[in-house]
Amino acid sequence: MKALVYHGPGQKAWEDVPDASIREPTDVVVKVDTTTICGTDLHILHGDVPAVTDGRILGHEAVGTVTEVGDAVKGFSVGDRVLVPAITKCGRCEYCQRSMPSHCQTVGGIGWIFGHLIDGTQAESVRVPYADTSLYAVPANVTNEQAIFLADSLPTGYEVGVLAGKVRPGDTVAVVGAGAVGLSAILTTGLWGASRVIAVETNKFRLDMARDFGATDTVEAGDNTTADVLELTGGVGVDVSIEAVGFPETLLTAASLVRPGGTIANIGVHGVPVSLPMQNMWIQNVTLTMGLVDTVSIPTLLKMVASGRIPAEKMGTHSFTFAQMDEAYDVFKNAAENSALKVVITPA
Ligand SMILES: [Zn+2]
Ligand SMILES: [Zn+2]
Repeated sequence: MKALVYHGPGQKAWEDVPDASIREPTDVVVKVDTTTICGTDLHILHGDVPAVTDGRILGHEAVGTVTEVGDAVKGFSVGDRVLVPAITKCGRCEYCQRSMPSHCQTVGGIGWIFGHLIDGTQAESVRVPYADTSLYAVPANVTNEQAIFLADSLPTGYEVGVLAGKVRPGDTVAVVGAGAVGLSAILTTGLWGASRVIAVETNKFRLDMARDFGATDTVEAGDNTTADVLELTGGVGVDVSIEAVGFPETLLTAASLVRPGGTIANIGVHGVPVSLPMQNMWIQNVTLTMGLVDTVSIPTLLKMVASGRIPAEKMGTHSFTFAQMDEAYDVFKNAAENSALKVVITPA
């Protein structure tokens, strides 16, 4: 089969590899019908994730069809259409039992293993360990082009942003950064009845998208961001401030927008230390949350997509075939400039 193989920083190739096959009785093999690229894949290609070594197949998001089933698998059969989420879970370890499979001990202490610790989903087929507890059947009225965004970006915006931030009816929510994950938070904030959603972003296309995804107000990020948001909230600040970028400045911006007693929900993947103004923050009774997605909200999100409440397909702005994998990466790498959010990649 063919797959996108990592060959060290800056190096990848769509090339021939051995076919994905069953190794453990709890495995299935899934033929990949749709995959996509995540910001994390770009971090890997920059060499920021040393656990990913030469020869690893990239990717941790897929929708596909089961083609082989291990002897111990009870819940899935050949021919089933399934969502392969970013997180693999044994379902039994202490963290899985706490609904925190992001730290599944059985698969190595971190639930994100595809395209990281084992071969990933940017391939014609993928071996899926712990299939019974990790895979999700895709309802008939949910398309592959919708389900693919439930593998990672939508649950991340929803769980690490909206749920961790404890958005409640009537809340005013700021979302700093309107890339795919920030937009996922905007798209799902309404499920909890936010009355106002303020998108903060530098890029014009993303600000337009934010409106389209449900933001009630947009603020062009700059020197006056904090003052602009405070003005929109009558000088009070927002109830929940969601950070969806991952830079010190954007976290500081998010922290500056929250009212006393509110929550700052950090989704961004940070690469360097951040100096927080604790001398001002301690007296504000604010909460700061952060974390890796667990993907445990996928069943809820699948229902909301099936019922038409979440138009997940809006996230896919560009389509490519497997043979155009390099082009797909080039467009996604410069997503804002290319008016791109997420790419949809299919066999042909
Ligand atoms: Zn990801
Ligand atoms: Zn586990």
